[in-house]
Amino acid sequence: MLVLSGIVGMEVFTTVFHRYVMHGPLWRIHVTHHAPSKHPLELNDVFVLFFTSIALVLIAMGLPNGPTVCIGLGIALYGMSYFVMHDMVIHKRFLRQPLPTNRYLQAVYRMHMAHHKHVGNELGEAYGLFFIPPRYWSKRS
Ligand SMILES: [Zn+2]
Ligand SMILES: [Zn+2]
Repeated sequence: MLVLSGIVGMEVFTTVFHRYVMHGPLWRIHVTHHAPSKHPLELNDVFVLFFTSIALVLIAMGLPNGPTVCIGLGIALYGMSYFVMHDMVIHKRFLRQPLPTNRYLQAVYRMHMAHHKHVGNELGEAYGLFFIPPRYWSKRS
């Protein structure tokens, strides 16, 4: 139950952060992810480093078994899943396989591509990653 609410919380936090911070004051960093580039690294990757450091600090602060260890591990776990899903499966970084035909993964892909259709930072959609609203499940949208 705690794990589940942690995952939901992280997804909500990430969606809000992506919507109002990355597509807001920090757009100049995040735009490197939305602009086409052949370079293997993007300035946008500093967000990965940023959340990784937060997770590590929380874990280090709470060692050996303080409450922040769990929070830090949760953030780290979510961050890794996000990286695998968003960077490797969707954007094919470090991965060359075609997109799996799994219905859920197809919907995740469709939703994230809808997000990438908007290159400007105003009027966007689909800032989340793992929770797929019904309209992205159908192939026609
Ligand atoms: Zn974005
Ligand atoms: Zn993306």
